[in-house]
Amino acid sequence: MNKELLSLLVPKTQSLEKTTGSNDSITPEDINMVLSYSSLTKEEYNFLLMKFVSADTYRNAFVSEIALRHMDKESKVLEHSFLNKLINLAVIEACEPKCIFCNGVGTITTINSISKCPHCTDGVFNFTDEIRNNLLNIDNFSKYKKMHDNLTTIIQDIEMSALSKIGDT
Ligand SMILES: [Zn+2]
Repeated sequence: MNKELLSLLVPKTQSLEKTTGSNDSITPEDINMVLSYSSLTKEEYNFLLMKFVSADTYRNAFVSEIALRHMDKESKVLEHSFLNKLINLAVIEACEPKCIFCNGVGTITTINSISKCPHCTDGVFNFTDEIRNNLLNIDNFSKYKKMHDNLTTIIQDIEMSALSKIGDT
């Protein structure tokens, strides 16, 4: 299954748009069926729904699962709330890399010119350590860089495993 199909699970707003009722289209039920047979772990399931369906709805569940997994190792050194922030940041970097300055276009257009957007590479936002400092409200991200790298690796592994289980590789 192509991951893009997961977007079919997005709850449709009660719009004026009538469902066409065609028989051969893929329905949310079909997608749920694939998901339920693909033996995803809870983390993988939540990751897919968070990234491709609704970040706001599923992010907390995903973040607390990752936090739980790391509590033992990290709770001695880190305040729990800060660990959560760090995980949230890694999750945002994994899920929403679209540049907010140019809307993911990669260029900034003014009346007189088109220039390359300084905040991203081809529309994918550049998370620099300076930006991470700002987002975490700290001034020494380098201290947490290793932990952040670990979290990023964990999240990437979950994504790869999840996508291969649903057959999108
Ligand atoms: Zn940009």
